[in-house]
Amino acid sequence: MIQITEFRAVMNFALRRSHAFSSISGRDFLARFQTNGDQLTDESAFNAFSDQVYYALVGYQFQGGFYSANLLQGAQEFFAQRVQTDAYDDDVISPWFHGVAAVILDRGEKKGEGGPTIIHQVGDGQEQYLVVDPFEETRRLQEQEALAKKQLADARRRERDEAKKKRDGNEAAFRQERKGCKGYPGYDETLDARAMSILSTAGANNVTLDDIVVMPDATGLGVGGNPAIALMLPETIDTIRDVVMSTHYPKLVEGKNPHEVNIDVNGWLDRLKIGTIVIAASALDDDFGLGVMYHEAGHKVTGEKGECGMVFACELTLIERHLGRPFAVDWFTRVRQPGYLRQHGLSTQPGCDVFAEKLRKLLPEVHFYKEFKQVYEAATGKDLVLSEEAQQKFAEERAALALPEVGKTVTGKVPALLSFFPKCEKSQQSIKPAGSKKGDQVTFAGYTWLVENKTPSGEYTLKRLT
Ligand SMILES: [Zn+2]
Repeated sequence: MIQITEFRAVMNFALRRSHAFSSISGRDFLARFQTNGDQLTDESAFNAFSDQVYYALVGYQFQGGFYSANLLQGAQEFFAQRVQTDAYDDDVISPWFHGVAAVILDRGEKKGEGGPTIIHQVGDGQEQYLVVDPFEETRRLQEQEALAKKQLADARRRERDEAKKKRDGNEAAFRQERKGCKGYPGYDETLDARAMSILSTAGANNVTLDDIVVMPDATGLGVGGNPAIALMLPETIDTIRDVVMSTHYPKLVEGKNPHEVNIDVNGWLDRLKIGTIVIAASALDDDFGLGVMYHEAGHKVTGEKGECGMVFACELTLIERHLGRPFAVDWFTRVRQPGYLRQHGLSTQPGCDVFAEKLRKLLPEVHFYKEFKQVYEAATGKDLVLSEEAQQKFAEERAALALPEVGKTVTGKVPALLSFFPKCEKSQQSIKPAGSKKGDQVTFAGYTWLVENKTPSGEYTLKRLT
């Protein structure tokens, strides 16, 4: 057990470390000391204060206090350390000091390790406190949480590593088996040449066989029959190589001697690397496929992996240039739905401002105003103001959609419906409860409505009830 004079030395040191006072508890501690009219330099006053702390801790320890016992033990160690090295470790003494402040000032204490939070009997023993030590308890929970997260992450990583090892092994065996197969390193030389020429016109410089690879079909290119993909992640490369080895190549050589088929499959696999665009053959004959390809070219030209504004700005430029303005308008209203554009190109940085301006110049003014006003203003920092002509058109549209009387219905998607209520509060701008369906009673724009119908694309028919 540490002696009182040794404890004084430890306290003296702790109180003199400037950053011991950086927390509220530390300053509070000091203020308490100074309100006795004393200064740290007044030795007898300092000793009296330090002794008060010492006896308080000893008292708590005798009642079975866990933290006070640890703090006294800590003080003993600091003292021994100072005797040996004539120095304290600042990173250790500071938390120790804060612990003392927490026990004395915040009355945080508990019985035994992991024991219940207890009580300091104060004064005549009438007053009781139940305070969890703000440091210890929070730290314990944080440590537990961090440990659980780490274990989960480790397990996932091990799983991934094993799968990767197995996959790499399979690929090595496959490549060994097909070594010496001579021929073209891909599915179709003519189609590759066409794809490369399209990519060159899209603005990619010095296009090579490694920039774009045509596949027999869209297997593995993503959900929903996505006809093209830019390989921006190692895992995607693994997936596409697997498709070549397990699906495309076996079909092409089926029933033949692989060495007599004109395909160098190892060369084909080698072409699949970071930055390569992979595209299904059918996409080359189809405007939708080309649109997707220009999107992938956007990833390649900008070097951005995410679905950000830069990529969509590039996609818009390429589609308008190569497939024409009417196609571009259609693409950015029907293929790329407003909700999708609001979420990705217009809200995912970098480049939202660039894309927002390009999109504004492309789309009909009123449509753009209704769908994108808020997100355009957020992205560009500018106000979106309608031209006089568009204002007129917008007013006419709104008049035609006058707020229905009670018992009448109105039809449209939420952004269009909101044009009835230009001054509607933000909290009332969505249909509540969310996910409502036909037959539900909802609130919207401060009124109560009956959902008479709701289409899969989100068009509501609402009957006004109040
Ligand atoms: Zn993309």
